[in-house]
Amino acid sequence: MKKFITFVIAVLLLSSCSSIAVQDHFSEYGPAPLLTFVFDDGNDTDYLVAMEVFKKHGAKASFAVVTDWINTKNHMTVSQLRELQDNDFEIMSHTVSHSKLKSLTDDQIEYNLSVSKATIEGWGLKVNNLAYPYNNNSVRVRELASKYYRSARGGQSALNQAVPDRYELKSYPISNNIDKMKALIDRAGAERKWLILYLHNIVVKVKVSQRDGVFQPGETLLFSPSGAKGRYGKGLFNWYYFVPLSEIAQAGDTIVGLSSGATCHLDEILYNKNEVLTKLIEHTRSSHFDMRIVTINEGLDICGVQ
Ligand SMILES: [Zn+2]
Repeated sequence: MKKFITFVIAVLLLSSCSSIAVQDHFSEYGPAPLLTFVFDDGNDTDYLVAMEVFKKHGAKASFAVVTDWINTKNHMTVSQLRELQDNDFEIMSHTVSHSKLKSLTDDQIEYNLSVSKATIEGWGLKVNNLAYPYNNNSVRVRELASKYYRSARGGQSALNQAVPDRYELKSYPISNNIDKMKALIDRAGAERKWLILYLHNIVVKVKVSQRDGVFQPGETLLFSPSGAKGRYGKGLFNWYYFVPLSEIAQAGDTIVGLSSGATCHLDEILYNKNEVLTKLIEHTRSSHFDMRIVTINEGLDICGVQ
């Protein structure tokens, strides 16, 4: 028994020493690489689709909302925002009305920054960080943003350094080219930097044929035999766009519109943003054991930004 206790103590000591060694390694070469996903605009697919994808992988994300668009068609409601924050996701401001801030007067810029913050706080939510609409900003916009926010995200397609430029956090749009996005994650891992990716609503684009009838925007779509469900968005030539609500639609499915009764054949899935997200999270987890998937606010904490 005594030998066993000694053994347990030795194991505990060894494991705590190795975790100290890992931390030292990080401090020598900069912080652990970080990855953040930011969803812009407050689309309801943030809640309907993205939340589940991230929860399933135990990962976090940030949602930048335009306050005038909350509680409107195809956008989130206040109670959905609350549920996101209750699940440790971050709500960010994306201004009041989604204008290009650079072209506004100082008063209009301040209005967009302060009223969106006050509105989100009035809903009983925390908000620390901003995402500039269209990533559009200037020296003056950044100066004003610093009055109200801890940080603000711009674009510029670059990685963030260990000491990030907090009022112009660099970010890349997520493309549907999964290999290209994986390579970007690999670069952030190798250079031990902070990669911020942003995207908008989660949609699937498919090629269809044998169309019979006209689908109505917003109607529920049933896919068989896959059993998937979706919400019809729009059609353009023989391409259809829909929100993936449950299960995964497959090439070969027949699509039926629940209200219109319209039907068509699904020939090919051209892209599925849900799948892109899932693959990027899985790649990060399997290939970069020390890369953390964090919200913007957590990333700032880790980088030591006050
Ligand atoms: Zn936007």
